[in-house]
Amino acid sequence: MTVEDEAFRDRLRQFLTGHHPGRPPKDPRERLAWTKAWLATLFDNGYAGPSWPREFGGMELSFAQQVIYHEEVARARVPGPLGTGLGIAAPTIITYGTQEQKQRWLAPMLRGDKVWAQGYSEPEAGSDLPSLRTMARRDGADYVVSGQKVWTSHAADADIFFTLVRTGTRESRQHGITYLVIDAHAPGVQVRPLRDLTGGHLFAEVFFDDVRVPAGDRIGEENDGWRLARTSLGHERAAGAMNQAAMYRRVLTELEDLARERGLLADPLVRDQLTDLEIRVRIMRYNAQRTIGDILAKGEPGPASSVSRLLVATFEQDIHELAVDLLGQAGLLGKSESRAVQRSRWLHGFLRTRASTIGAGTREIQLNTVAEQVLGLPHDPGMPAR
Ligand SMILES: Cc1cc2nc3c(=O)[nH]c(=O)nc-3n(C[C@H](O)[C@H](O)[C@H](O)COP(=O)(O)OP(=O)(O)OC[C@H]3O[C@@H](n4cnc5c(N)ncnc54)[C@H](O)[C@@H]3O)c2cc1C
Repeated sequence: MTVEDEAFRDRLRQFLTGHHPGRPPKDPRERLAWTKAWLATLFDNGYAGPSWPREFGGMELSFAQQVIYHEEVARARVPGPLGTGLGIAAPTIITYGTQEQKQRWLAPMLRGDKVWAQGYSEPEAGSDLPSLRTMARRDGADYVVSGQKVWTSHAADADIFFTLVRTGTRESRQHGITYLVIDAHAPGVQVRPLRDLTGGHLFAEVFFDDVRVPAGDRIGEENDGWRLARTSLGHERAAGAMNQAAMYRRVLTELEDLARERGLLADPLVRDQLTDLEIRVRIMRYNAQRTIGDILAKGEPGPASSVSRLLVATFEQDIHELAVDLLGQAGLLGKSESRAVQRSRWLHGFLRTRASTIGAGTREIQLNTVAEQVLGLPHDPGMPAR
């Protein structure tokens, strides 16, 4: 770290302390408004988008300062971005969007004025995304979209869906897919929340019934969406790698403190399990640095993003599983119980992270990517050729 890097850390820390938004409101609508107000504060003061070009309101930081940024944000416990646009759609728009699209979409997304959600998966198309069926037919200056998406995270809060739709024949698979940006409030769009294991409604089903979408809201060429989607998917796996590594560094220290308070550190088995997590959280940090380095050098995160995703997903499952184990019966109490430990955060995390090895591509799909693209093993015959 240079003197300037350390000065940047001090400035950022002071800013985050001085403008900290406090504790989140309980009511979901109020919490959304509170998060939006925080994102606007970051943006208006030039502290949003550490890796984004300055032209679109970002900070365009160096590698070292991006690392510092994520460490300080995790330390400050401030709200993260809303929706999934920032990490996934934005790099796709920056790479493939027209200048007009960049001007129209990027700054409002970064400022939190518009929440973006990812509509890729369908009831019959998850790992095998090229089999998706949501149809978009051209009608004059518009596309008319009909079909269904599922597991769309943050759909209930979304203003915009970035989607993959079929513009080719039913059999065209990856050759007939187009990347379309759809107004979530347009006539014919219906969102039906789905309940997850925690009892919350993180994701939803989204139905499109003859929704008209201007052709100007297509990114890239018609039927070329698969190439764009692969950029998005790489960024999805890389997105937040550093942020998560920094956050789990803090969470592991909190678990170590809890184990100490409860007199569990005398147990050599517990010390062994915590040491294992300690080693893994450090590896996660180095790997996240490698991913940021790849993005800076080549513009793309590359297949190492699948390694990041695997490391984070299995780590977050294991740390919560250990925490619930260490707490014994108390670990199973819900937050309304008076004897619940730390408002039941560890149980909530345990339930929430069951899905970590499914979302953003299942564990098996990530392993396939690592096998084929990192280790050079033969290609999965069931998936499209690269
Ligand atoms: C919390 C969460 C949030 C999500 N958010 C979004 C979102 O915002 N937007 C969105 O579009 N989607 C989202 N998804 C959906 C997610 O991308 C899919 O669930 C995922 O791609 C798997 O698809 P599937 O559920 O259809 O399972 P399937 O693809 O049917 O897989 C079933 C099982 O078969 C295995 N399998 C499938 N193909 C292969 C293969 N070739 N080799 C080896 N094993 C294989 C899988 O690993 C899995 O174990 C989310 C999912 C979760 C859990």
